[in-house]
Amino acid sequence: MELLIGKSLQELRNWATENNLERYRADQIYQWVYKKWEDNPWNMTNIPKDLRKWLSENAKFHTLERVEKVEAPDSAKYLFKTEDGHLVETVLIREKDHWTLCVSTQIGCNVGCKFCATAKDGLIRNLTTAEILDQLLWVQKDIKELPKPWNKVRNIVFMGMGEPLANYTNLKKAVEILIDQRGIDISKRRLTISSSGILYQLRKMAQDPLLRSVNLAISLNAPNREIREEIMPITQSNPFDELWKFLVNYPLPEGRKITLEYVLIKDINDSEKCAHQLARLVKPHRKRFKVNLIPFNPSPILPYERPEEERIFKFQKILLNHSIIATIRWSKGQKVLGACGQLRAKRKIPLIG
Ligand code: SF4
Repeated sequence: MELLIGKSLQELRNWATENNLERYRADQIYQWVYKKWEDNPWNMTNIPKDLRKWLSENAKFHTLERVEKVEAPDSAKYLFKTEDGHLVETVLIREKDHWTLCVSTQIGCNVGCKFCATAKDGLIRNLTTAEILDQLLWVQKDIKELPKPWNKVRNIVFMGMGEPLANYTNLKKAVEILIDQRGIDISKRRLTISSSGILYQLRKMAQDPLLRSVNLAISLNAPNREIREEIMPITQSNPFDELWKFLVNYPLPEGRKITLEYVLIKDINDSEKCAHQLARLVKPHRKRFKVNLIPFNPSPILPYERPEEERIFKFQKILLNHSIIATIRWSKGQKVLGACGQLRAKRKIPLIG
């Protein structure tokens, strides 16, 4: 069986030629899969019956198996199983007027952030391009009958399990397919790559016209080297000052901003002093940054706590007083343990609804 998802249109055309199919059949299949979210060849009505039969016997339209969906009022977590038996999590988040899908790019992660449940198992492996895209295809299949605008995922954030830039080649190909106007056709402005800040990977992204045209978010989480080293040990080999200098000079597309993600952890990085330090850092460059404050989501396997609400608002107010854009992301996936840093490859955490 040939896996058809994860293929670009050109690859699908090549596959069609190799199998003595007309080239336009590949275009039709591409549209069924990536525009109409169809995974059953028998429903591909503009394709002749004998070819539909042949497709049903020779082609596969998913690589992941959908295992479970846990729903909360404003989010849903999907659990998928890869062909080699690993679990992958994807979170669909309801925003005011659209869906955002938080997609995983690796099984586990070896960046080792101290506040992150995903890091606990280390890196198991990268997801393939097909596995990255299949998360979207399954979710689209699930929501496609809903009324507009809830029948289509509008925004995708590569912010699930793993460090997206550590899976550069597969991520890049997934982005190419996502933005292809002949298929899925998601705007580059609606895609965000969230990185922990590994400098050599970020430099590669900065030189890559395709990836640098999508949004960049950096998991900063500290206003200085000491605190960042404590909660993100990668800071030792990716020094805080160097990362900051890189971000200040990053070749941003016009009108865009880099999102600085800041997980607020009680008594670690949530003090007024930290807020003032962050404000001093960002203020001279506030046109190119916005700060996204994410109150820490407690997890049974992590030793940290969420700050009190009052402290969270105080932190935000200090940034706002310096005219810095600062929003609080009350993690919508929390009820399904799908919020930032809570996704885990092995189900050791009980799912709650
Ligand atoms: S926060 Fe992201 S980069 Fe850090 S360990 Fe977790 S998954 Fe990896």
